[in-house]
Amino acid sequence: MFWSTERPYKKGDSPEPVAILPALLLETVALRWSDAFIPTLRDDPADAEAASHRLLVRAGFVRQLMSGVYSLLPLGFRVMQKVEKIIREEMNHIGGQEFLLPTMHPGELWKKSGRWDSVGLEMFRLKDRRGSDVALGMTHEEVFTHLAGELRSYKQLPQIWYQFQTKFRDEARPKSGVLRVREFTMKDSYSLNVDTDGLDTAFGHHFDAYRRIFRRLGFEATAVEASSGVMGGSESVEFMLRTTAGEDWIASCAACGYAANLEKATSTLPAVASEGDSAELEKFPTPGVRTIEDLVSFEGGGTAADRQIKTLVYKADGQTLLVLLRGDHSLAEQKLLDQIEAQEIRPASEAETRAALSASPGSLGAVGAENCIIVVEESLRGQCNMVTGANEDDFHLRGVDVERDIEARAWMDLREVKAGEACPLCGAELAVEKSLEVGHIFKLGTHYSELLGAKVLDENGTPCPIVMGSYGIGLGRAMAAVVESSFDDAGIIWPMNVAPFEVVISVLNPKDVKVSETAEHLYESLQGSGIDVIIDDRDERPGVKFKDAELVGIPYRLTVGPKGLKNGVIEFVRRANGESREIAVEHAAQTAAEAVFEERF
Ligand SMILES: [Zn+2]
Repeated sequence: MFWSTERPYKKGDSPEPVAILPALLLETVALRWSDAFIPTLRDDPADAEAASHRLLVRAGFVRQLMSGVYSLLPLGFRVMQKVEKIIREEMNHIGGQEFLLPTMHPGELWKKSGRWDSVGLEMFRLKDRRGSDVALGMTHEEVFTHLAGELRSYKQLPQIWYQFQTKFRDEARPKSGVLRVREFTMKDSYSLNVDTDGLDTAFGHHFDAYRRIFRRLGFEATAVEASSGVMGGSESVEFMLRTTAGEDWIASCAACGYAANLEKATSTLPAVASEGDSAELEKFPTPGVRTIEDLVSFEGGGTAADRQIKTLVYKADGQTLLVLLRGDHSLAEQKLLDQIEAQEIRPASEAETRAALSASPGSLGAVGAENCIIVVEESLRGQCNMVTGANEDDFHLRGVDVERDIEARAWMDLREVKAGEACPLCGAELAVEKSLEVGHIFKLGTHYSELLGAKVLDENGTPCPIVMGSYGIGLGRAMAAVVESSFDDAGIIWPMNVAPFEVVISVLNPKDVKVSETAEHLYESLQGSGIDVIIDDRDERPGVKFKDAELVGIPYRLTVGPKGLKNGVIEFVRRANGESREIAVEHAAQTAAEAVFEERF
């Protein structure tokens, strides 16, 4: 569990300062807007909902090539390079060594780890001319573990290995622009240790590095407990940005800082008042009742939802699995997937359901069910006088005593937490908000090293599997997250650290010699100071130039025009708040450069 006690990041606030100015700079870039390919659009793309999608397309940063596949245009690539540089600095800072592994992997390696079969349609697969299976890597545990097989002794550990590489994932429903795509760049790193204490340390280093990375990118990411999903392993933490563009829901407690993905979150429920002593089981007719709500409002004896048992039917590796929840609760399916050991778990079809229980949904129940594995949600423990389907269409059972009448194979936490329920740690009200995953770190343990034979000799000369962790950040998603957390009606507002250009010089009348000379001089001095500067020397109306500068989101604008020059001044505008002031021509370059340096970290 993690507590976000941090306050907003300020310069010099980093637990371990890393970036020394102006080391953050890539090679300084200066550009003329008249020469540049910055295809801004007047209107939002029709299919775009997420702000990042809308604005990155409109401001000329990205273009879609096909569903879920995007080209980065020069401005987008500049941002990505800066994002990459920040991540690289922080990874090197914790001792990471950079690799570059192939995107094409032998299918054989994925068969050894078991994921050739378990991953399914999300993996792009092909055959080479000899008929061998090839995978396009969606992640690189297999290849890094394969390389780790060359390590011989605990003395060679610990190691942190990382890379920036293209990943492929054949998403069923790519959407939201660069947020959910089929081809993307990721920083993935892997920690190799001789024991779990070492893994804990490496995990902690990554946790801190990720914190610093997101702060330098300009947004606060909340660390939450998460499901490890297809990655396996014992523990994982997601870094989440609160935004309506996100696809995950997190439950969080403002009082104590508890935060968890709904795939994992728990809450404390008030005790349901006991309904007296156990009664006898009794079948009764419920014509037309198909849902929990139907039975609540059933004429001649409705039953409150929290007195009903909801029965969900799944197939787990061919076996019928009944999942029982209180009628007013919803299943967090990932919790089920995480706790049931099976290659494949899916909802049963209607035909399969009828074959197993001889009834249709609406009349299903677990009392007397044969040849089924039954798992029961914890909140049903000790409940009696409950109502459930009788496995006969249009009939229900009442007087059900869950522990007496149902043969539970296991009791599990399966319930999805709702807003307003009590925090499991302190009892305060939980909030549930939409969030975007911007990073995910996993304790893998020895899962991959055992399957792929990556072992070292420990101190006693005994071979032991390497203890691994795996850590990812998607770069395109990080760029989109910056936009989601920083934009307004006029466009993007880039934080200095990742702005494609730090200053734009808008030349109001390029044909005026004095204006043009002053602007050119300013352009050269800013370049000389190591500022990423673009000069808007296009033959366009001022309104067009200002609109484009705001849409693109350049942090500072210097406006050089005949009116101002008459008074010896240049307008200096801050994109973030529209704050504008006039500065003397001779101080303009220095003032702008200082403002930029002040905001880089
Ligand atoms: Zn709490």
